[in-house]
Amino acid sequence: MSEHDTRDCIFCKIVKREVPTPLEYEDDHVVAFKDINPQAPVHFLVIPKKHIPKIGDLTEEDRGLLDQMTSAAKHLAQKLGIDETGYRLVINSGDNGGQTVYHLHVHVLGGRFMRWPPG
Ligand code: AMP
Ligand code: ZN
Repeated sequence: MSEHDTRDCIFCKIVKREVPTPLEYEDDHVVAFKDINPQAPVHFLVIPKKHIPKIGDLTEEDRGLLDQMTSAAKHLAQKLGIDETGYRLVINSGDNGGQTVYHLHVHVLGGRFMRWPPG
């Protein structure tokens, strides 16, 4: 499957409600839901409704989208009560970046201390 083929994209299926997944947040441009394989006590993914494979595929047309994603992450962190203790936003990009799902997403990780550097 090509990165640009939306038909078999699991996150597109979540956006289209073809794979039932409770949404923690939704607006016109993004949705957020729990990561299926959490790496922290709180682990959510914020994704654009539009299929964009990775950060390098953002175009002029997508101006403002990263802002909408981080705004949603901020809103989510407040809602989940991790804004005071802190949290980490992560975007993995490409194979060396550890990206496994080629539909742009921001990880929101919290509820424990995050080590640095990441593995
Ligand atoms: P990345 O490795 O940055 O591409 O992250 C992809 C994330 O998507 C991983 O943390 C997976 O656990 C998560 N994931 C994959 N499929 C699903 C799904 N159906 N629902 C929720 N999270 C998923
Ligand atoms: Zn997609």
